[in-house]
Amino acid sequence: MPEDCVFCKIGSGQIPVQPVYEDEEFVAFRDLNPQAPVHVLLIPRAHYPTLMDMQDPSLMGRALQVVQQVARDLGLEEEGFRVVVNCRDNGGQTVYHVHFHVLGGRFMQWPPG
Ligand code: 5GP
Ligand code: ZN
Repeated sequence: MPEDCVFCKIGSGQIPVQPVYEDEEFVAFRDLNPQAPVHVLLIPRAHYPTLMDMQDPSLMGRALQVVQQVARDLGLEEEGFRVVVNCRDNGGQTVYHVHFHVLGGRFMQWPPG
């Protein structure tokens, strides 16, 4: 685990957050700088720098199951929501510990800017 990775610190409990979901593998928590009324980040506790490093299909499947759970728990299922994984420079990734953004509570334009 890289010493300076903020999401590793959140995943290990070194930086406390109020989780909206957690289990042995994943933690979901509110984004510090929300871009929508609901803006949650889902991370694996294990460090994978980008989506391309997360190569275990069952782990990826479980991540999307947790996204579904978060969407249900936060009341996003009916009106809809968006899931975003920014990957590297052109994707706009700023934190190099893979994370799934779950955004909802407002209409979101397409395509993204
Ligand atoms: P990226 O641009 O890498 O896809 O997204 C990184 C996200 O992490 C940003 O939306 C940013 O607001 C959020 N973020 C960065 N540091 C922290 C933090 O320490 N706590 C929380 N809750 N969110 C963070
Ligand atoms: Zn990390």
